[in-house]
Amino acid sequence: MRSVATGLILSRKLADFCHACSRRRVLGRFSSSSSGTVDPRKSYGGGRGEKEVPHLPVLIVGAGPVGLILSILLTKLGVKCSVLEKSVVFSRHPQAHFINNRTMELFRKLDGLAEEIQSLEPPVDLWRRFIYCTSLSGPVLGSVDHMKPQDFDKIVSPISVAHFSQYKLMNLVLQRLEKLGFSVCSPSEIEGLIWDRKILMGHECISIHPTNEGLKVGTSYLKEGKMEEREFHCSILVGSDGARSTVRKLVDIDMKGDRNLQRLVSVHFLSKDLGQYLLHERPGMLFFIFNPDAIGVLVAHDLDQGEFVLQIPYYSPQQKIEDFSFKVCEQIILKLVGWKLVDVQVLDIKPWVMHAEVAEKYVSHNNRVILVGDAAHRFPPAGGFGMNTGIQDAHNLAWKISSMLSGIASPSIIRTYEMERRPIAIYNTLLSVENFRAAMSVPAALGLDPAIANSVHRVINSSLCSILPPSLQKFALEGIFSIGRAQLSELILNENNPVGSLRLSRLKKIFDEGKSLQLQFPAEDLGFCYKEGALVAECGEKIWETEASSVRKRDLRPYIPCAKPGCRLPHMLINALKESSAKASFSTLDLISGDKIEFLLIIAPIKESYRLARASTMVAKEFDVPLKVCIIWPKGSSDKNVNSSEKELEPWKNFIDVEEAITPTSKSWWELCQMSSNGVILVRPDDHIAWRTESSSIADDFLELKRVFNLLLGHDKFLL
Ligand SMILES: Cc1cc2nc3c(=O)[nH]c(=O)nc-3n(C[C@H](O)[C@H](O)[C@H](O)COP(=O)(O)OP(=O)(O)OC[C@H]3O[C@@H](n4cnc5c(N)ncnc54)[C@H](O)[C@@H]3O)c2cc1C
Repeated sequence: MRSVATGLILSRKLADFCHACSRRRVLGRFSSSSSGTVDPRKSYGGGRGEKEVPHLPVLIVGAGPVGLILSILLTKLGVKCSVLEKSVVFSRHPQAHFINNRTMELFRKLDGLAEEIQSLEPPVDLWRRFIYCTSLSGPVLGSVDHMKPQDFDKIVSPISVAHFSQYKLMNLVLQRLEKLGFSVCSPSEIEGLIWDRKILMGHECISIHPTNEGLKVGTSYLKEGKMEEREFHCSILVGSDGARSTVRKLVDIDMKGDRNLQRLVSVHFLSKDLGQYLLHERPGMLFFIFNPDAIGVLVAHDLDQGEFVLQIPYYSPQQKIEDFSFKVCEQIILKLVGWKLVDVQVLDIKPWVMHAEVAEKYVSHNNRVILVGDAAHRFPPAGGFGMNTGIQDAHNLAWKISSMLSGIASPSIIRTYEMERRPIAIYNTLLSVENFRAAMSVPAALGLDPAIANSVHRVINSSLCSILPPSLQKFALEGIFSIGRAQLSELILNENNPVGSLRLSRLKKIFDEGKSLQLQFPAEDLGFCYKEGALVAECGEKIWETEASSVRKRDLRPYIPCAKPGCRLPHMLINALKESSAKASFSTLDLISGDKIEFLLIIAPIKESYRLARASTMVAKEFDVPLKVCIIWPKGSSDKNVNSSEKELEPWKNFIDVEEAITPTSKSWWELCQMSSNGVILVRPDDHIAWRTESSSIADDFLELKRVFNLLLGHDKFLL
């Protein structure tokens, strides 16, 4: 069996060969009306031992970042799973590179993944800026710094955002999977395998059929030059198979939104010389380059290593991906760079299409087929929401699958995944589209309105022009575009030319007012909040009273800590009491374990709250729900007698006394949460708040807590 590391380096030739062979087969479809009504928990276990028809509790289709992170999360929570991947190698084309704050918080709980990324990513000063210029050596039209002082002071989060290429992230994720016992297998290596904890390369999911016990999943793979088929049985199938998801199509789920916003060619290349030049002269993450010969966006993945991706817009069918040969791409790079680089090495050229769509449903077939990541939503990559949203989908889903399979929650909890995550995807789609439009405001100010380019393209595609030979259409399109680009010549674009000067002042206004493409969205990154789902409002209350969920503003809004149900638990530094005084402060987010299903109840050390905590521990026991109690003491409580918690909560042992750490903010924990010190907060295993109350306001603790756990877990247990 191949180790993870060697699995990564199967030769490119073999990869190309297998890609060519891995064509789509006849799809086995099923309609939702054919859904069985089997409880997924009944077929949990997978202990059939049949070599021919392996059975797994969870089968994940697609070993992209989202599928692999999901497999780590599930495995840590004790759920057996394996991953099918149609390619025989992992892609090295660096797509995502911006990892947002919330994703980094999740990565802190994956065996130091966040810290490892921080130690390997380029220094922040090399990527904090977006630079707008006419060539990399020519005049700078604008430069926008996207990091703010609060990004470094750890007040709203224990960690900050990162810039790290997707394929490098995948390598680190695979190392973690290897430590958890996963192995990467090629089709020839899997005979006689135990099926749990495998990443089965070269296996394309081609059919899904319901059975009495769950699902039968058909795959095709190439063996000794011949396509063969293999079946798997599983209780739950998660489709993390990307933007063109086969799983989504097999279960007949449509996408809603705008398609084909823009076609682009993505050119992955290396140039040490360019890297060193930019590193010293004008370091940045994105370079928007506009000149009379070419237009493109250069993503500096790593200046020190000289690793770049150039994004070039193209217009089909007049322009074809075949037009972008290695030679042509090299020439475009040189036109944008502005001098003759001699060490450009083009590694890979990939076309892609920008969409803004969200799946109509995330869950299908009686909670057995679930979509995550790009399979469920595809956004313009403006703002870096794609992978981040997908990884956060996986985080929302993992504890729900685990709770359902272990019987803690009813199968209906899976539906709350869609209720919670789909609105977030819709919101992020709108935000990404707005951000993409903001990016387009820069070329528009320069006289290169993309809307005009699209209109020209539409006219050329119209029935009148389509009778022209394709070569003439292409000639016309490129001719018109080059006339448009001529406006970027230094002759026009300078302060002495009235048109140029007007355009330059428009451009300055866009940058000064923060109306160009933004990188960070703190209010959405940490402040996204579920409005309905596995959440409980206070008795007789609505969780979200007046907030209109349709309010969409791309304006940079700060993150404001909030402790309403659905929000991420606010971060505050705390110290454990009764521990060695040398112990460093840690985050309230660290109170929640990533390695097991456990709810957290946060209280203050006051009588009413201890009383409610005691009732909570008893009800949690009845419901078989693991629960930890955290008592937050005010700053400077370390010398006081904190033994009271032990007495108050007896015989419950799973509790922790902590005190607020001394920090530059003067707010107490309860002030931060905008609650009184009678406050009680119940937190889910994914750090989101499930319920909150004021301990003094409850008439019957037991009745209220039974209501809470019933609603939260989809049960109707122990109701009076
Ligand atoms: C230019 C660009 C820049 C981007 N930058 C960012 C960024 O900075 N930050 C960010 O968050 N996002 C970014 N994104 C988006 C990000 O790349 C995607 O959101 C992310 O890759 C989605 O991950 P995924 O695991 O859902 O899907 P994918 O990465 O697409 O993985 C899906 C996997 O499923 C496999 N597969 C497909 N069909 C089958 C099948 N039938 N059977 C088995 N396997 C199958 C595929 O081979 C693939 O390995 C960017 C995207 C682009 C194009």
